[in-house]
Amino acid sequence: MYYACDEHIEVAIDMIVDEVELAPVVEKINEEKAPLSTTCSFCESVAIYTVDS
Ligand SMILES: [Zn+2]
Repeated sequence: MYYACDEHIEVAIDMIVDEVELAPVVEKINEEKAPLSTTCSFCESVAIYTVDS
C-alpha cells in the first residue's frame, strides 16, 4: 500500500498498476486506515489517499 498526497496520487496509481496490473483501490485516509498525520510515500507532504492493490 502507498500513501499519497494530492500531487502524487497518480504516481501511486501507476506504481500499483505496474506491480499487479490491476486498477488500484484509492481511498481517502481516515483514522481506521492510517493516522491523519501519515506522510506521502513520495514526498514530505501529508498523505490524503491510500492506494492499495
Ligand atoms: Zn507527495
